[in-house]
Amino acid sequence: MTKTISLAHGNGGVENNELISKVFYRAFKNDILQKSEDAAVIESGTLAFSTDSFTVTPLFFAGGDIGKLAVCGTCNDLAMMGAKPKYLTCSVIIEEGFSIDELERIVSSMQKELDINGAVIVSGDTKVVPRGSVDKIFINTAGIGEILKKGISSNKINEDDIILLSRDIGCHGATIFASREGIELTSTLKSDCSSLYPIVKRLLDEDIDITAMRDATRGGLSAVLNEWAKQSDICIEVDESKISISDEVMGLCEILGFDAMSLANEGTFLLAVKKDEAHRAVEILKSYNKNASIIANVSTKYLKKVIINSSWGTQRFLDMPSGELLPRIC
Ligand code: MG
Repeated sequence: MTKTISLAHGNGGVENNELISKVFYRAFKNDILQKSEDAAVIESGTLAFSTDSFTVTPLFFAGGDIGKLAVCGTCNDLAMMGAKPKYLTCSVIIEEGFSIDELERIVSSMQKELDINGAVIVSGDTKVVPRGSVDKIFINTAGIGEILKKGISSNKINEDDIILLSRDIGCHGATIFASREGIELTSTLKSDCSSLYPIVKRLLDEDIDITAMRDATRGGLSAVLNEWAKQSDICIEVDESKISISDEVMGLCEILGFDAMSLANEGTFLLAVKKDEAHRAVEILKSYNKNASIIANVSTKYLKKVIINSSWGTQRFLDMPSGELLPRIC
């Protein structure tokens, strides 16, 4: 590994994982941490516990802001473990000179999103640092959720499972990039930033036998599929034609040379369910977003690998993203 931290070390891909395993996991080694789930499962499988920091720029963007993101990010990681988000903490690091008006807007959008999850902020911290020590505001949230269905895990997907995607991909990454670069492609492009707990609750209420869930945040779909292939020691075979990408996102990717599969999402998730439940599950997902679909099968063809089957009949490996993707995307 390099001697100093580069932006690539925060990319949600190869370098990020290397940093986590070689520095943090090495020091903090324990069984709960090393399961590498979206949230830690503690207290004999009854509680989920997670934390996330938010540094997005710009602070306000189409479809959300740093406050909404700070609640969605942590609550979604809890929901991905089959948990109902309950108690959150909120820590802010604010730059001297930051506007109180903007702070109030951010806090009120946090409260709005907490209401959607039925969660509350029960503890917090505020630090103010001299101008230039931080860019405007950084927020950290941590959360505890009550696990409604035990045993959901990214480490036990097998050939009896099928993989579903909840909606079209890349909206958050494309929106942030477009607004940062002052590109106005369309008035309809907006971040997918949203709380996933209501959808998860519905899936659980309908008794869908869920093996695993993971939201496709930094590193996008490519990162989650590769993490699942490695963690569960399986081969994931994706039908490329089933992955929905809007014209706006596709257009931006073509102009800027991005791969939509690696763009960040903030309200889009992958779901592994037992084969005979797949159609029922996709119908439920479609009631929230019509672009939901079954996208992949699980096999043992090339273990720990993701294969993309194109509509032309060709096959290629989909690698874990690497390099400096988009820093400060969340
Ligand atoms: Mg996650």
